[in-house]
Amino acid sequence: MLMKLCKRCNRKLKSQKSIDVGMGPICKKKYEAELAEAKFNNHQITIDEVIGVPLEEVR
Ligand SMILES: [Zn+2]
Repeated sequence: MLMKLCKRCNRKLKSQKSIDVGMGPICKKKYEAELAEAKFNNHQITIDEVIGVPLEEVR
């Protein structure tokens, strides 16, 4: 019998759902949180926008 392991923590996956996903429910939540954070970081202002602010406004 083939034993599937979690991609993140290498623990044995018990449910068929976890095996389908490739990771346990807790690791899946962490993975989704990381994805959301990565998306958020991609939408933060760029360095060009910071440099573009006139010095008079910074003072
Ligand atoms: Zn895991």
